[in-house]
Order: sequence, then structure tokens, then C-alpha cells
Amino acid sequence: MQLIFEQIRTGGDRNFGYLLADRDARRGILIDPSYTPETLVQRATDQHVSIECILNTHGHPDHINGNARAVELTGARVAAHPESPAFPDMPLADAQEIRVGALTLQILYVPGHCRDHVVVFETSHRLLVTGDLLFVGKVGGTENEEDARIEWNSLQRVLAAIPDAATVWPGHDYGVRPSSTMALEKATNPFLRCRDLEAFLQLKKDWPVFKRDHGLK
Ligand SMILES: [Zn+2]
Repeated sequence: MQLIFEQIRTGGDRNFGYLLADRDARRGILIDPSYTPETLVQRATDQHVSIECILNTHGHPDHINGNARAVELTGARVAAHPESPAFPDMPLADAQEIRVGALTLQILYVPGHCRDHVVVFETSHRLLVTGDLLFVGKVGGTENEEDARIEWNSLQRVLAAIPDAATVWPGHDYGVRPSSTMALEKATNPFLRCRDLEAFLQLKKDWPVFKRDHGLK
């Protein structure tokens, strides 16, 4: 099996979409092909890959606004959490495994940033597509303290389940690099360095000041 894995800038607010495929099997998926779905579909076509599903990490408009066009171009199904406003015809459950050619994708349900959030872990090459749960150097925004608690629990699950060697591929280019590893994020991401929930909640409150003091954008 030969991997195809492309991180594609789709537009919007520094949004990333992804093409993930098995070149030998000529089968692949698109993840969050928003704003410019034609670009992602063309990359698949150029490599003779047929798209089996359009997978959404979560249902915020900047991640699903390309679904209709991507489906029109590929005939693929939409895979997302059942509560997604994208109304998936392939609902995803926690711990579900999806086969794409010889690739195995594990789904982890990680609410907090929103109710329908999932991350995707490709097991052979250890690729973790994190959507808006985990960015390089920060985590997804939350609307209230309860959601922040839920997000904390989701992050702890990911930290426990995903190996340090895994690479991290976020939904936006918000960090100082476009991708990372679990080991680097554990060592440098201030939200993952919080020793407990209280520190995490406090950092969320203090984030504008923290950003200013540390020269972050
Ligand atoms: Zn979002």
C-alpha cells in the first residue's frame, strides 16, 4: 500500500482540508473539503483515486460548506457524527474503524468545541487529523465552562489513546507550523501542559493575555 496524504489550504480562516488515500487501491477520502472542494477532488482525479467518502471532523460551516459540491463531483457519501448538521449518510460512531483500500482509520468521538466532533487516526502511518479539537500550540474554542470541561476530557482521551510518534494535522493553520506531533504538542502546547482541569479552565480565561505576552497570533 502506498500512502497519499495531502494537506490542502482551502481558504476561509486558514482552513485545511485533507486528501487521504491508498494509491495502489486507488481509493481515498476527503476530510473537510470546504470553500474549494474542486481543488481536492482534482488532486484525487490527477492521481486516479476514487473518493469513497467526504468526512467531516465536525459540523461548523467552515468545515462542511464544500460537502454538496464534493458529493456532486464524486458521488461519495458524507461521513460524520450523527448529530452533524451535514446530515451524514454514513454516521460515525466512537471507536469505529473505516477501511479505505488497505488503510485503517479509527474514529474517536471528542466533543467540546462542538457536540459532533470526531478525530481520525490512520493507524499504519500514525496520522491524527484533529479538526478543531487540537491545533499546533492551542486547542479549539469553547462557548462556556461546561463545554471546556467536555473538551478537556476529550483531550485527555486523545493523549491516552494516541502514541507520541503520531503526527498532528489540524483543521486550521493557527500555529507557528502547519503540523506537529503528539510528543511536540505534549511538550509545548500550553493547554496540554496544564496539570489539571482547573489550570486548563484558567488558561482559557487568560488566553488573550497569554497570547499577547507570548507574541502569539
Ligand atoms: Zn469549528
